Amino acid sequence: MSTYLFDPLPQAALPVVGESRLYPVGRIFCVGRNYAEHAREMGHEVDREAPFYFTKPASALVLSGETVPYAPGTRDLHHEMELVVAIGRPCFRIPREAAISHVYGYACGLDMTRRDLQGIAKQKARPWDLGKAFEQSAIMGPLTIAADAGPIADKRIALTVNGETRQQAVLSDMVWKVEEIIADLSLYYHLAPGDLIFTGTPAGVGAVQVGDRLTGTIDGLAPVEVTIGAGE
Ligand code: MN
Repeated sequence: MSTYLFDPLPQAALPVVGESRLYPVGRIFCVGRNYAEHAREMGHEVDREAPFYFTKPASALVLSGETVPYAPGTRDLHHEMELVVAIGRPCFRIPREAAISHVYGYACGLDMTRRDLQGIAKQKARPWDLGKAFEQSAIMGPLTIAADAGPIADKRIALTVNGETRQQAVLSDMVWKVEEIIADLSLYYHLAPGDLIFTGTPAGVGAVQVGDRLTGTIDGLAPVEVTIGAGE
């Protein structure tokens, strides 16, 4: 039996409301520009031909309630409050009509973004990794099982910073609906339990400062909360 040279990373996992077992996280997919007003505030129009994606490593996951240090290498760390979908059954090339039954649950998530580095990447037509896929950049509340969450289309999504509302929308404002995202992503990946999908952020993204307390909410889901600590 082989042993490892050093300890492997711990398995990333999410608590589930009303379930003692954890949801082990495999991959983290993220949708770009999925709310028209947010696309506009970033200087773009929504691409209605197809959604586009980027990813974060599972090791970037942080659970709600923690203090996360201000990320290194940026002077413009932004919040993006999002609905996160957790896949519950394998699916590949799944039709849109059958996609929603493959959702295990939903959660509140923060797609933390080094906006200045993302901006440079866009300008130079380089990958977004430095802007998006960094340590502690995927902050999430506990999962709520889909059946307990109920239909999500009309739920309100919001983010407050130090009690002041910064982002507010309705999930029906999403350009690509949850079932459309799953159907499209399954054309390119064999989706499986453990896969998370951040579904994009509404308008109102902005910079955070050391000491800020962020609270993200979606009706019927457990909130995501984080404090921004001093950078290391
Ligand atoms: Mn995002």
